[in-house]
Amino acid sequence: MAATEERRGRDGGDSQAEPSRTDRPSFESDTRGYQYFPERFKRNDERGSWYETLFTSQGKCESMLQVALQNPIAKVLLEALKETGCPMVKERHFSCEECTRKVAGGFDSETCQLVLCKNVISNQSLMNRVVNHELIHAYDHCRGQVDWFGSMDHLACSEIRAANLSGECSFFNELSRLNFGFKKHHQACARRHALRSVMAVRQVSWVEVKSSIDRVLQRCLNDLEPFGCIPSTKCRADHALRTLQNRTRYYANL
Ligand SMILES: [Zn+2]
Repeated sequence: MAATEERRGRDGGDSQAEPSRTDRPSFESDTRGYQYFPERFKRNDERGSWYETLFTSQGKCESMLQVALQNPIAKVLLEALKETGCPMVKERHFSCEECTRKVAGGFDSETCQLVLCKNVISNQSLMNRVVNHELIHAYDHCRGQVDWFGSMDHLACSEIRAANLSGECSFFNELSRLNFGFKKHHQACARRHALRSVMAVRQVSWVEVKSSIDRVLQRCLNDLEPFGCIPSTKCRADHALRTLQNRTRYYANL
């Protein structure tokens, strides 16, 4: 299982506005996890040109991203984001970048962008999991006041939800069919992934992170929005998508 640890900006801003990188602290002084994403600090003209992206890791990353956006869990999240007032556009809200080896992806709340680490994501299944994971952070950011840097509990809760709902613990889904105590294993898996994600991007003690995760664990495991279930186990993601689309149509007709 690849980690999909992330870093975030201070707040969301206008989801349609051009990303701004001017107000950030310097690469060296940042303590919020940005140091794992060095390309965030580059201007567009410092990045590779379009012809450099063809047949390179950039081109491969963008192709895999295109496929990942069609996976059932991502489709539900994209629909839910649209319904909540935060439509995501591939060219604007997704960015393939070179990262340090410690992270596979991230959600930047300052620019409302998902970052996919092109030098780390080596296959389609990992890309799917990273996209799903970061889309859950984007959804949490869109639907409520998430204090990413002021509240460890807020961060812990979103990490628990991302691990629980993105398919990261899907191996245990298979075990569930054999009645191997699925629920317990799945929850332990989500807790372990959440711990690892928070530890990767925050300069805080393991004890502090563990206590925060355990404080919010049950509440956040029980928060299954926008699926209403753990995708691919208790219900299927495509069923959740139909429910969402029907709800949208219903409100559109009122
Ligand atoms: Zn995360």
